[in-house]
Amino acid sequence: MPGKTLRIAICGGGIGGLTLALVLQKFSKKDIKVDLYEAKDKFAEIGAGLNVWKRTWCIIQVLGLEKSMGEMAVHPPVEEPTPSFTFRRSDLPEGYEFHQIVSPYGTASMHRADMLKVLTDNLSEDIGTHFEKRLVSYVQDGSGIVTVSFADGTTAEADILVGADGLKSVTREVFYEHLANDAKGRDESEAQHLQKFIQPTWTGMYAYRTLVDSEKLLKIAPDNQAPKKAFLHFGKSGYVVAYPISKGRFVNFVSLVTHPEKEGSRLEGPLVKEVPVDELKRYFEGWEPHMQQLLSCVESCSRWTVCQNRDIPYYASGHVALLGDAAHAMAPSLGAGAGQAMEDAYVLGRLLAHDNVTVENVRNALDIYDIVRKPIASKVADLSRMCGNSYNFHYVPDSIKEAGVEVESPEGLKLLCDFIYSAWSFNWTGTPEDEWAQAEKMLNSAHGMMS
Ligand SMILES: Cc1cc2nc3c(=O)[nH]c(=O)nc-3n(C[C@H](O)[C@H](O)[C@H](O)COP(=O)(O)OP(=O)(O)OC[C@H]3O[C@@H](n4cnc5c(N)ncnc54)[C@H](O)[C@@H]3O)c2cc1C
Repeated sequence: MPGKTLRIAICGGGIGGLTLALVLQKFSKKDIKVDLYEAKDKFAEIGAGLNVWKRTWCIIQVLGLEKSMGEMAVHPPVEEPTPSFTFRRSDLPEGYEFHQIVSPYGTASMHRADMLKVLTDNLSEDIGTHFEKRLVSYVQDGSGIVTVSFADGTTAEADILVGADGLKSVTREVFYEHLANDAKGRDESEAQHLQKFIQPTWTGMYAYRTLVDSEKLLKIAPDNQAPKKAFLHFGKSGYVVAYPISKGRFVNFVSLVTHPEKEGSRLEGPLVKEVPVDELKRYFEGWEPHMQQLLSCVESCSRWTVCQNRDIPYYASGHVALLGDAAHAMAPSLGAGAGQAMEDAYVLGRLLAHDNVTVENVRNALDIYDIVRKPIASKVADLSRMCGNSYNFHYVPDSIKEAGVEVESPEGLKLLCDFIYSAWSFNWTGTPEDEWAQAEKMLNSAHGMMS
């Protein structure tokens, strides 16, 4: 007898939510119904760039999107070791290059809108897409059915709700409110602990983001290499990531400045704010000409308050799962947040698509997702945080302390590069297939135990 249709509601049509829909579409051979609810009136991304490393590229390949995605990248990835970022010391009147990262596939940099277009172009008509559907709350009944409420007053029912609604996830708010309320009376300190995860906290970082027009830059500085290759600029007052996107038409420019004493504080005011360009420039006074040339082409910029959900204890509870930034927003210093959202989507999608997963036992699949994905995403978030603090010399790795050298000395910089290479190597070591293999093994064993 055929089983009941498994109804999956995905809230949020960003990179994570869309990837989940594509994984379900590709791998499910059973009767499922997938509905994607997006708050905006269309799928849209911000005007900025994105780096994609080997682990993420593997998912793109499995989904059969490597050709169309490769066409969007400045340098389509190749299997052999490829140079990616060049490291420069830039907070001096004369900057200098001190390292070149070489890794399998290098890094494919592209405009976010281009990536989103490839994902949306490949959505099948079987995926129900619903726009202007802003989730405001949800409830789960005793049988596991989740009823989702939207800002327009409508509701929808599903067997599984996946909150892929980003950093300011309402799904996460409701999820942790429910968990904290359940704990009240039973264990007051647990309830207080759970309440901490309702909202993300500030990393202490601001990210200033803009796009620089390459033609304009090359007119004033014909030798500036930023339209051709990726740079990470190190300095004490902050660091800058600059790399070409849109086939070199623009340089994606992100500068990160840190107020370490503010880490862990609650958010105040808007997350994103247009600010005068002078606010950005004042952090980089006295930096090398290469940087001044880039800054002189900046016409406008936005300031992002970079947030995190550090040590979040659950990605899944009952029939609800969190995915991407909703689960593990992190510092962008490893260029891995979107990749991690896609890894979540891959593992969760494969689990939900599995023939043995039914409406009756789907909760086990969510528990396995939580067990498999949480340690990996937490590790990436920790590495990213440490790396970000090392690009501005605030964090000094033990190897440098043990060597008894200054971090800015030639030997110190060499050891710093070794540390960064080791942290970054996560991006090209192993594949999400390894995570899926672990999840499938757990699923098979749980299924064996249940039958
Ligand atoms: C400065 C900076 C640079 C970065 N660079 C990189 C990089 O190079 N590489 C990388 O891998 N990552 C990078 N990241 C991280 C990456 O941008 C995020 O991790 C990624 O976009 C998260 O994807 P997501 O799908 O979880 O969330 P989002 O992309 O935020 O998507 C969430 C979606 O949900 C919708 N939504 C929100 N609320 C609701 C609601 N209530 N109901 C319905 N829909 C809703 C939104 O409209 C949106 O479409 C960077 C981040 C920053 C801040």
